[in-house]
Amino acid sequence: MDKVIGIDLGTTNSCLAIFEGGVAQVIPNPEGSRTTPSMVAFTPDGQRLVGSIAKRQAVANPTSTVFATKRMIGRKLKSSEVQRMQMTAPYKIAAADNGDACVVVHGRRYTPQEIGAFVLRQLRESAQEYLDQSVKDAVITVPAYFDDAQRQATRDAGRLAGLNVLRIINEPTAAALAYGIGADAAGTIAVYDLGGGTFDISILEYSQGVFQVKATHGDTFLGGEDIDVRLMDVLIEGFLAETGIDLHSDPVALQRLKDAAERAKVELSTVEETEISLPFLTADASGPRHLRRRLTRDELESICQDLIEATLAHCQDAMQAAGLQPQQITDVLLVGGMTKMPMVQREVARLFQRQPNRSVNPDEAVAVGAAIQGGILAGDVGQVLLLDVVPLSLGLETSGGLMTKLIPRNATVPCSLTEIFTTSEDYQPLVNLHILQGERPLAADNTSLARFELVGIPPALRGVPKIEVTFNIDANGILSVTARDLGTRREQQVRVRATSGLTESAIERMLAEAEQYQDSDRINVELADMRRRIQGLIYTTERSLAESANYLTETELSQIRADLENARRSIDSADLYRIQQVLKELEKSAFRITEVMYKDFA
Ligand code: ADP
Ligand code: MG
Repeated sequence: MDKVIGIDLGTTNSCLAIFEGGVAQVIPNPEGSRTTPSMVAFTPDGQRLVGSIAKRQAVANPTSTVFATKRMIGRKLKSSEVQRMQMTAPYKIAAADNGDACVVVHGRRYTPQEIGAFVLRQLRESAQEYLDQSVKDAVITVPAYFDDAQRQATRDAGRLAGLNVLRIINEPTAAALAYGIGADAAGTIAVYDLGGGTFDISILEYSQGVFQVKATHGDTFLGGEDIDVRLMDVLIEGFLAETGIDLHSDPVALQRLKDAAERAKVELSTVEETEISLPFLTADASGPRHLRRRLTRDELESICQDLIEATLAHCQDAMQAAGLQPQQITDVLLVGGMTKMPMVQREVARLFQRQPNRSVNPDEAVAVGAAIQGGILAGDVGQVLLLDVVPLSLGLETSGGLMTKLIPRNATVPCSLTEIFTTSEDYQPLVNLHILQGERPLAADNTSLARFELVGIPPALRGVPKIEVTFNIDANGILSVTARDLGTRREQQVRVRATSGLTESAIERMLAEAEQYQDSDRINVELADMRRRIQGLIYTTERSLAESANYLTETELSQIRADLENARRSIDSADLYRIQQVLKELEKSAFRITEVMYKDFA
């Protein structure tokens, strides 16, 4: 089998690794760096720049340098996360045709998938150069909190980059894999991952190379960039007080401030005090203005105290979900560039009552784990079973607009769950399945993943048909739902494609239909409805008659056949009363068949 590359497609930085010669190793980019900024820039002369070269020119080209788009992937423009991003991003964010967030550069819209694909393509090229062979297969990681739409969008980014994405795995799980391979002891680990844009905490049990995720929690909008923004605000306020100049409306100054803030933050991980110096930051009537300020580690810590505390609260929630006390955790793993900050290490140690393990490089662990998973898929690594969990509950809309959960949050994947549902109306010929993801009790408050219909249900009183619904989640965390009528064995399946645009157009169509009926003549509507029901009933009765003929008596059979014949003759009648009578007769005889069919499942 071909080589499988492992990619950590990060909010801030991406990393590439491969399993080769029995070990996973990071592949440096052409500039020799082991991580590549997840940045894409478009120059005025139409060039596209990716990675560090894009980051280097960001100051001079702020509105056309795109970064942190992972926070938008698979999300709507209207979502609060994107709205929040819009307030600080120097580039333009707009809506794609389906309402998803996208960026606009030089008048052209780019989806976050396309931006991700530019980064992935660059990594793929690095791998090809390094291996001196073409590379197609990849394992890509995503934050544990990504929902189906976000996972699907990440997979699409891979496809756009010409990659065959074999697996999407959770970042903390990948990190644990990097840590655990070859380890023969058993234990429980907490993976604390604080990167540039996301925070994840996962609790995993492992034994002889077998990992099982017990709980994951986190925040897709909490990371190092939030600290950078805080620090920027402090610098802007100070500058305003000193000079009376508000830098908020100066994109070039903002980008320089952002760079300086991040640099100061990184420096303060190793030194106690640093100086921020931005000469010629702006100018006013009195001439050029410079920003110069000393910053201590203590100051930085007080600026971001509550952000770090928020991560600790998530850790506590995760421990509670896993039913564990801190002392039951045998190891704490630090992942993500932000965990190099001494305050993070100190606070994590205090919460978990032990020193965190730092034998895994926090910048590379996720990519290394992805490469190991690639090695497993390519057959180069044996014996490692990787289990993941469902980040959000999955279920169906049931009567009254409620959500009935089938797979609870934190269930281990791959997994499958079956439940029996029934109809809510007499002679209901079809059931509508509305698949939802989320934690809220009302269906409308959760994310709609897909809708589909199971048709051809034989006529029966409400509650009689038995519809077996199976939710199956594969190793990628991708859901397929199957509904089967136990009476007819008729089956319908969807593989959930969480492009929410599709779902919305389905809703629009249904709304349009509803309006159309309102305008039509009432009698005609009713007649059409009766005819449709009779037609459906003739159809299903014929089918079920063929299947159950052996179980019916001769008298029953001839009565049913006579009713069918009568129904066929009367279907075009414009006499509402007559049609109603025909329908009633046919329902009665159909009901006899149904009783026979379902008696085995009573
Ligand atoms: P992501 O997974 O979101 O791509 P990374 O794991 O690469 O992010 O982490 C990037 C974040 O880590 C950035 O906010 C960066 O400023 C921060 N970072 C990197 N090195 C250090 C350091 N030595 N001290 C503090 N923060 C750091
Ligand atoms: Mg990361």
